[in-house]
Amino acid sequence: EARRLDERTQGSRAFYERARRSLAGGVASSYQTRDPWPIYLERGKGARVWDVDGNELIDFHNGFGSMVQGHAHPTITKAVNARIELGTHFAAPTEDAIVVGEELARRWGLPKWRYVNSGSEATMDAIRIARAATGRDTIVKIFGSYHGHHDYVMVSIGVEYDRIGDRFDLASLPYGLGIPRAVAEMTVAVPFNDAEAMERRIERLIEEGRAPACVIMEAAMMNLGVVLPEPGYLEAVREITRRHGILLIFDEVKTGLCIAAGGAVERFGVRPDLVTLAKALGGGLPSGAIGGTEEAFELVEAGKVVQVGTYNGNPLSMAAARANLLEVLTPAAYAHLDTLNDRLMQGCQAVIEKFSFPGYAVGVGSKGCVTFSPERISDYASFKANQDAELCELAWLYNMNRGIFMTPGREEEWTLSITHTFAECDRFVAVFEELAHDLTA
Ligand code: PMP
Repeated sequence: EARRLDERTQGSRAFYERARRSLAGGVASSYQTRDPWPIYLERGKGARVWDVDGNELIDFHNGFGSMVQGHAHPTITKAVNARIELGTHFAAPTEDAIVVGEELARRWGLPKWRYVNSGSEATMDAIRIARAATGRDTIVKIFGSYHGHHDYVMVSIGVEYDRIGDRFDLASLPYGLGIPRAVAEMTVAVPFNDAEAMERRIERLIEEGRAPACVIMEAAMMNLGVVLPEPGYLEAVREITRRHGILLIFDEVKTGLCIAAGGAVERFGVRPDLVTLAKALGGGLPSGAIGGTEEAFELVEAGKVVQVGTYNGNPLSMAAARANLLEVLTPAAYAHLDTLNDRLMQGCQAVIEKFSFPGYAVGVGSKGCVTFSPERISDYASFKANQDAELCELAWLYNMNRGIFMTPGREEEWTLSITHTFAECDRFVAVFEELAHDLTA
């Protein structure tokens, strides 16, 4: 399969050879790398993308889950084109920014909003707001959870960094080099789906004089495939954080506009103090937002917490976000995504049962995956122990060779767009069936 993909992607190979001379590793971002070379894309329309070799692929990668509205959506394209004619950047607020804020406040039931340009900036600023509001420095996150590339949260994501791991507490382990130990140690990880462990750790931190400012988490983990919260878990976390005066941040960069019109807050019915959004918000343009309660934003409004950025609320991103929220990713769109995703998950689950394949299909809203594990995965430890990395790689090659574009690696899930069809979901299932058949034959 690997050789077959190499033969189909010789144009990407040529791009890579050229790109390596000017771009580090031949790519714009470390998560775009792949051995032996990355696949360079040329264009996208609806649920399809085309690579530089002209291979047409059904897109289940969707820009790490940003393109829930599909590629080059005519409504968003029109809004962006209209805005381009009127000027693309002022560093002054525009009406679109107000409209987007009003819509987000309505959907999330949180009154105050600010904008940024990426998920990383959203989580970085949300943590600052929480630290200021509580006057505390320590933050609690979930083992294995990704919240962006700044130092506060590049901690205890993968414990495969064994070369530095033995010098650090695993709960405060820097993810990669270049992250100061002193910064990493202000972040403490606890396992997902275990409210008791979270509370025990919080109590210990309080005893040590390190009471946490916030718990930052995804309500459903979206970088171990998909791991859903067990019944009662989010409610328990809400209760524990409130009791200890800790702000709860739901990082909805992935879940936000993917699993319901009002994200995880709507889907699971638990309201945090702060939420972070990015990815699908801008309809394919860089954007992000932080939403919160009046209390959380008090010091921002007083000018005591400085939340800034030249491109915050950029007119182009805001025009795209306005069209996206008001005309494209409407509540009706989510009912459609649920139907599509049910079809895909049920199709995959039927294959699993037909071939007694070790795994299960799981998902919510536009997101899902087949987890290649005989055991149900509930947190990072069970993921690391059970998820079959080799099988993930093989499944990716099968997909790419048969016209299905997915993220490489074992962490990501599929993201459907509103432009996907049942036929495209069925194609995904057919390719999975071919894999299951070949492996069990
Ligand atoms: N939070 C979560 C939950 C994410 O999945 C990501 C990106 N995958 C981020 C934050 C960071 O977003 P960005 O890459 O836009 O900085």
